[in-house]
Amino acid sequence: MSADKRARMVEWQLRRRGIEDERVLDAMGRVPRELFVPAEARECAYADAALSIGEGQTISQPYMVALICEQLALHGTERILDVGTGSGYQAAVLAQLAREVHTIERLPQLADRARERLEAAGYENVQVHVGDGTLGLPELAPFGAIAIAAAAPGIPQTLYEQLEPRGRLVVPVGGGRGQRLEVAVRSPEGPAVVHSVPCRFVPLIGAEGFGE
Ligand code: SAM
Repeated sequence: MSADKRARMVEWQLRRRGIEDERVLDAMGRVPRELFVPAEARECAYADAALSIGEGQTISQPYMVALICEQLALHGTERILDVGTGSGYQAAVLAQLAREVHTIERLPQLADRARERLEAAGYENVQVHVGDGTLGLPELAPFGAIAIAAAAPGIPQTLYEQLEPRGRLVVPVGGGRGQRLEVAVRSPEGPAVVHSVPCRFVPLIGAEGFGE
């Protein structure tokens, strides 16, 4: 049942909307999204929408998860930083696409739940951290790529500096009136923004995000 819904999601919400990276499509077709939503929302797990996960937060729309993963242009050897763990779903998808995933969430209740789900589902290359993700994880940097799943006022400088040379960072930029998903590549001249599309995310709250 879930496998059928997942296959339809991949075809109709992702491939037909322009997601082309076969590794991303394959990963999205394998991660059981229903394990990452609250029990009462399981029926809607494959809906073309973000869903509430409690604490005023959401699991992102499948298309946005796939788009972020595609824009990271992963090969499978990278260490990734995933900012805004939420349900843990995006971290699970990234775990299929990279060697090692470090995911950080500011709300301990969400981090605990995500850790339990990821462990139960057998994702051994993901570590869940609690803290202000706008400051990254300096002790584990540099990262081959950084995914940010909450909207920031601009490209967070501290996170940009935790990228390897030519590493990619994907971040929704903007406030309540409109946001754009930006892709920045670390280069000697500073962040080179290579892609940008409209999107809508909850705010990134922290030292280099929006205030509490
Ligand atoms: N990627 C998630 C998933 O697959 O379920 C969805 C993330 S949700 C749209 C954004 C998350 O970012 C929320 O859980 C929120 O608490 C978290 N967040 C906001 N500001 C943060 C910060 N400074 N550091 C870490 N997490 C943060």
